[in-house]
Amino acid sequence: MRKLMSYLFDPAPVIAIPVEGGAGFPVNRIFCVGQNYADHIREMGGTDTSVEPVLFMKPASALASGPDVPYPPVTTDLHHEVEMVAAFGPDGVIAAGVGIDLTRRDLQAMAKKRGGPWEIGKAFDNGAVIGPLRPGPPPAGGAIKLSVNGTVRQEGDLGQMNRSLPELLALIGKYFTLLPGDLVFTGTPSGVGPLLPGDTVEATIEGLPPLTFRMTDRKA
Ligand code: MN
Repeated sequence: MRKLMSYLFDPAPVIAIPVEGGAGFPVNRIFCVGQNYADHIREMGGTDTSVEPVLFMKPASALASGPDVPYPPVTTDLHHEVEMVAAFGPDGVIAAGVGIDLTRRDLQAMAKKRGGPWEIGKAFDNGAVIGPLRPGPPPAGGAIKLSVNGTVRQEGDLGQMNRSLPELLALIGKYFTLLPGDLVFTGTPSGVGPLLPGDTVEATIEGLPPLTFRMTDRKA
């Protein structure tokens, strides 16, 4: 692409997320993997529990980190999905964190019904909540858990993933060139369910910094 000397308006600032003990991680794209845990495939009504995972994307502008996350418009069925997130640097995966793939389940269901894309259910503003990244190789096993107002809703183990992180990267790599700054949400275990304005969400993955945030009121 031709390099321009000036722009019609100021370009959007770089979107970055905090990394423990270091500089921010500048985000390029967010790849998301769906249907990567058998028990979650089952709870969504699927029967082929080893189906090839679904790939979709969210824009970097969808990132949120709390402590307050606005309840998104249009939906009446916002769901939490806790996921391990791998962060891709110049030399492969360089860090990982705890993420929530917020989902407007009612809108996603409508999109599925008409066989259309999932953006209105998945790629909305503040729909990708993420905690601080921890540098180093992501954990391949260990507890992954999400609580709402102190009640455990999702509880699983990273070892339950149908496709491991290296397998997911290979799958994504078939279709896209992974670039420095890309994040990969690796799928959610069972127990997904609704969030309401005012709910406090706490998500943890063994070996990674925890993520806590509060859903605020619906945007008018
Ligand atoms: Mn998900």
